[in-house]
Amino acid sequence: MYLEKFRLDGKIAVVTGGARGIGYAIADALSEAGATVVIADMNGEGAKDAAAKLAAKGRKTSSEQLDVTDPRAVEKVQQAIVKRHGRVDILVNNAGIAISNEPAESMSDPTWLKVLDVNLNGVFWCCRAFGKAMLEQGSGNIVNIGSISADIVNKPQEQSQYNASKAGVHHLTRSLAAEWATRKVRVNAVAPTYIESDMTKSVAEGSSMMKYWLDGTPMGRMGQPSEIAAVVLFLASDASSLLTGSIVMADGGYTCW
Ligand code: NAD
Repeated sequence: MYLEKFRLDGKIAVVTGGARGIGYAIADALSEAGATVVIADMNGEGAKDAAAKLAAKGRKTSSEQLDVTDPRAVEKVQQAIVKRHGRVDILVNNAGIAISNEPAESMSDPTWLKVLDVNLNGVFWCCRAFGKAMLEQGSGNIVNIGSISADIVNKPQEQSQYNASKAGVHHLTRSLAAEWATRKVRVNAVAPTYIESDMTKSVAEGSSMMKYWLDGTPMGRMGQPSEIAAVVLFLASDASSLLTGSIVMADGGYTCW
């Protein structure tokens, strides 16, 4: 009875930024649970390859090239997916970028705008387009990928744009959850700690940051993409039917200290 609730058979799911890293692990988890997963990524070739890799494991997948910062493109892709699959039941807003080591006083306009555009505007454009259709069909489930950076200030890297963008994602999650709760569209978020992916590799390479990160984590280690995917699977499934507006910390205890 309980394990059944984690199954996603017959569901159509969209994962933004699913070509690699955490997004790919999420696509893997949702498709293993039975969902048909559309990988939507700015890197169209990467999305195609990721979908093919999952298809080789017997999963139901397809791909779309999508830049989430373009609201018209988001609408077009939403319509294309509904045309192909009939509906969308689950949306995972995972696409995101990080630009670190940017002191606020010298941050360029483009850096501030770019990070907010992908991490916050992109999440809103997707929630609006897919959420509208979910409200019309009377059901839906949205999971946003936030961050510990929404609640704490990372040490030692200076990245006020990233932190502000993720704080926006957490409160957008609560706002949409409250607006849509009685219309059966749930909206939750996961707040990961440092996860081993290309994103953290590019930030930490050649720096002494890693020591700060691990010293600041009670578990003393980074997370794996699969450990975030497992939380997303819970939030995307009926196992979490009472949760909406929740921000699930998946942080090895980072926010305890
Ligand atoms: P990643 O850089 O490895 O992968 C990000 C993916 O998003 C890539 O496939 C990229 O092509 C895609 N993408 C980037 N901009 C896009 C856009 N405008 N439109 C569509 N797709 C776009 O990153 P990751 O580590 O897998 O992170 C995934 C999410 O998790 C991000 O939102 C990130 O902020 C969040 N997160 C990551 C960590 C971490 O430590 N890695 C920690 C907390 C939160």
